[in-house]
Formats: sequence, C-alpha cells, structure tokens
Amino acid sequence: MSIKIPRGTKDILPEDSAKWQYIEKTAADICRNYQYEEIRTPIFESSELFLRGVGDTTDIVQKEMYVFEDQGGRSLALRPEGTASVVRSFVENKMFGAANQPVKLYYTGPMFRYERPQAGRYRQFVQFGIEALGSEDPAIDAEVISIAMEIYRQLGLKELKLVINTLGDNESRKAHREALIAHFEPRIGEFCSDCQNRLEKNPLRILDCKKDRDHELMKTAPSILDFLNEESKNYFDKVQKYLGEMEISFEVDPTLVRGLDYYNHTAFEIMSSAEGFGAITTLCGGGRYNGLVEMIGGPATPGIGFAFSIERLLAALEAEAVELPVQTELDCYIVTMGEEAKDHSVKLLHKLRQAGLSAERDYLDRKIKTQFKSADRMNAKLVAVLGEDELKENKINLKDMSTGEQQQVDLDVFVEEVKKYRA
Ligand code: AMP
Repeated sequence: MSIKIPRGTKDILPEDSAKWQYIEKTAADICRNYQYEEIRTPIFESSELFLRGVGDTTDIVQKEMYVFEDQGGRSLALRPEGTASVVRSFVENKMFGAANQPVKLYYTGPMFRYERPQAGRYRQFVQFGIEALGSEDPAIDAEVISIAMEIYRQLGLKELKLVINTLGDNESRKAHREALIAHFEPRIGEFCSDCQNRLEKNPLRILDCKKDRDHELMKTAPSILDFLNEESKNYFDKVQKYLGEMEISFEVDPTLVRGLDYYNHTAFEIMSSAEGFGAITTLCGGGRYNGLVEMIGGPATPGIGFAFSIERLLAALEAEAVELPVQTELDCYIVTMGEEAKDHSVKLLHKLRQAGLSAERDYLDRKIKTQFKSADRMNAKLVAVLGEDELKENKINLKDMSTGEQQQVDLDVFVEEVKKYRA
C-alpha cells in the first residue's frame, strides 16, 4: 500500500508555492517599513514552555499538543503557536536590554495542533506573526492591528471585519472574574466538564467554549466593559482613537475573549466577511499579554502581537477571487536545430543565467514545433532560434513573442540583446 500524507497536513505544490513566496515577501516588506525584524526559533521546544506560556487550562495544551520524549528523556513539544517561543528567546537572549526598545519582531513558520481537520483547520499550518515587546503605549496596540490590516490590504483583501475588545488590566480583570464566577456558579452543572473546571481556574474562558456557546447564561454574562477601571478605559479609548485616525474601521465586541491565559487589555480578531468563505471565518487573532514575559522567567515586560495562518489567508483571497501577481515569465527560450546547435546552447544558456536572466531549452529531443510550444507554455518573452547555418555565421535569430518581430543578432552580443527586453 502506498504511503499517504498525514491527516490534517498539506503539500504545497509548485503551482501554489509562488503564492506562498509572494505572501511571505509582502508581509516581510511591510514589517520592514514598520521596523519589525525577523526572528527564527526552533520548531520544537520544552513542553514546559507551552504549559507556562500558553496555559495549562487551554485546549491547545490539554488536547492538541504534539508532545514527545527524545532519546535523552526530555519532554518536548512541536510548537502549537509562536508567541511563547519568541518570548522565551527574548528572555534567553536578554533582548530586554537591547538599545532599541520596544523590541519588534516577526516570524513565519509551521505550527502543529492535533485538531479535528476541516476546511481552514489543519494539524500543521503556517503562521505569520509579530510581537512588540517593551512598550505599553496604546499606539503600539493600534500599530500592531494596523500591520495585520495593511498586509491584508496590500494583498488585495477587501471584505474584512476587525473586531476589538479589551480585557482590562489586572484589577479590572479580577473584578470581572468575580462577577463571572457569581454568574455561572449557581448553574455550572449545566455546562460541559471543561467549563466546570474553568470556573475557578479561568472563568473568562467559559465565554470561549464551543460546546456551550448557546447556553442562555452566555448571553447574559457580565461584560468586561462594565468592570473597567479608569486606566483601562482610557487605554482602550486611546486604541480606538488611534485606529480612527488611521481610518481603520472596527467594531467593539465585549464577548471577544482570547483562548490563551496571558492576555490583558487589547484583544482583536480579523474575520473574512466574503461570501462562501466557510464556517471558520477568523483570519487573524491577537492581543496584549503584559504578564507573559515574567511567567517565562524574564523581567516584567509588556507585549502585544498577532498571528494569522497563510492557509486561511489564501482561502480568503480565493473567496474574494483575488489573483496574486505571480505569473512567471521566461526571459528567453532557446530553440535548437541539429546536434551542434544543441551542444552550443549549453554555453549560451549558462551565459544568460549568469547574467541574471531566466532561460530554458529542450532536454527531450523534441521537434522544433514542440520546442516552440514549450516556450509558449513557459511564457517566454523571447525565443532564440539556433541552427547549423546561424552557428556557422556566429549568429542567432531572436523572436519577440509579444510582437512576432524577428531579428538576427551576433552571438557575441546575444546576452546583451536579451537583456534589453528585460526593461
Ligand atoms: P490562535 O493562535 O489560535 O489565536 O490562531 C491565530 C490564527 O492562526 C487564526 O486566526 C488562524 O488564522 C490561524 N490558525 C489557528 N489554528 C489553525 C489551524 N488549525 N489551521 C489553520 N490555521 C489556523
């Protein structure tokens, strides 16, 4: 029996990888403009990092993590998300002492979660994310949100919905937490076992439960917005003001909570509102996590970030019928006639490629007509035809495929001539 790809994973085939490269490059270029630099961390980390950093009450840690023991008896996990690793590296490399503050980082790479695969949900998926560590200025919150929106905008997405909320500071969260416990406790028996466990540990997460989503107590649950102290309220007002100044539209949704334990203040999600996008509409999620760096063993440092998967971004582009500009062109295809010309084309091809041009020839002894067909299929701008007669005269025929015009050029200036068409 042939071996199949693991469930929940996908091959990215050549016809699609150009789109991935384009998206990754666009995102990286935008990050550069905002002064975010790339960080690359390992794909596996100590399991402990995610227990602490993601939180042991989360589905990710409780049910979805790929954990394994290595030959040395260490418990390791394939990373389920990027923030914990970035923060671990921030602490380990003492980036809190770097001259440039806040530390602004971005990453791209595969993440692993043992989830039930469906459209838009994979067991291995690629997240692009950013983290800004070291500042608690609401302008950074607005900047982080604007980067995600800008990446989507530049890629051509239009049907987006940005939803924001605040979880408040510790004091506000605590007051809200007590109100939530008082709200759910009398009827907690009607909720799933996960929610029952969450009641004391992290009642905010009950609002995030997929199973009990429609329970009547969910709709009447106390809203965080009623428990914000002055400082938290001002903070949230500023974030909204800055978004308004950047002309980024948004909605405030007080039920938006993040599944992870370390979030406070700003939380946000970007959804696709494109028709036919599918059941899972969230494209991007992010928020502030002022307690995380300390939890990972560093000095108290505020942070905020987001992550989105390229898989869902591609699905949104498809739903909006956006074509990325990834059509590849070939600068020159060399058609040869006869053995000698074919031999000589090896050198010519090499010269073209050394000059930074894209060039190709036939390797299957195909007839001239078929060679022309290949050139067409590869979108060749120029076809160079080399026969025995031309070779004797040290010449080659160049055909401009867009106009059909032909000219004969000296072999010595061939590369220069092809270059002219590049411009
Ligand atoms: P999270 O880390 O759960 O906040 O997710 C952030 C973003 O990652 C989501 O908005 C999705 O774009 C993406 N994402 C999360 N889980 C998956 C998955 N299993 N498959 C594909 N994309 C995912």
